[in-house]
Amino acid sequence: DRIARSRDREFSQFRERIKDADQFKVEASVFDDATFGALYKLVQDGHIDAFGGPISTGKEANVYSALGGSAAADALDAADSPEVAVKVYRINASDFRDMRGYLDGDPRFDGIGSNKSDVVKAWVRKEFANLRRAQAAGVRVPEPIAVERNVLVMELLGIDEGRAKRLAEVHVENPETAFEVVREYMRRLHSAGLVHGDLSEYNIILHGEELVVIDLGQAVTVHHPNSRDFLERDCHNVASFFRRQGLAVEDDDLLAFVTGG
Ligand code: ATP
Ligand code: MN
Repeated sequence: DRIARSRDREFSQFRERIKDADQFKVEASVFDDATFGALYKLVQDGHIDAFGGPISTGKEANVYSALGGSAAADALDAADSPEVAVKVYRINASDFRDMRGYLDGDPRFDGIGSNKSDVVKAWVRKEFANLRRAQAAGVRVPEPIAVERNVLVMELLGIDEGRAKRLAEVHVENPETAFEVVREYMRRLHSAGLVHGDLSEYNIILHGEELVVIDLGQAVTVHHPNSRDFLERDCHNVASFFRRQGLAVEDDDLLAFVTGG
């Protein structure tokens, strides 16, 4: 009992410290207690050591930089305190009706009801599992480190002047090579039974010379009733981007390459 009380006290101190930290001033109001609880657990478990600043504030999630703890160092096979990205989904801001649709037909998430916080939690676990699966298939993605409730911790990549450079924002030196890499990523994802579902020059970042695919929360398995539409849309987005880079790329040819047809 005394232990429980002292744990409670530690937790409130942690919460106050985060709430006071400059980088959380704005967001603290939208972080609910359970989110603080999840961050606290991630610190306790050695995934996060210290919080850095915000990298991105999106509609549904905010991404922060942080220093990882010993568990993160192990996961990344890195020396002490590697940099990590912490993606925090805001349960209340999430358009969970939209999210729910992306869980349909996914055998990994059978039986998830429509309770808002259950849907968001399943979504974050799905993003983590998708990163794992993409990585196993040979697609360069941020290494997933930990997931806790509505918070995902992963490898931080491509930070230049405070945030990652998107393919959309750089001068593509060699569009032929970049296209070959992206289309091979798409083919590998598809062979692994995944469709990204929001693939475009905005969800591919540059890490040095490497192209890295991010934002796999909405990625669905090929069992999803709309997976074909999502794949066609991904092909269209990617092909259009590379057409603008001067390549003669047809949506259908890309689709055929990706599906091996
Ligand atoms: P958006 O609606 O802007 O696409 P999102 O909620 O879908 O945001 P992401 O696309 O996963 O979230 O991440 C938003 C931004 O945060 C990215 O564009 C990128 O700048 C940054 N980011 C995300 N993950 C990482 C990472 N692992 N390393 C470095 N930066 C990252
Ligand atoms: Mn994104």
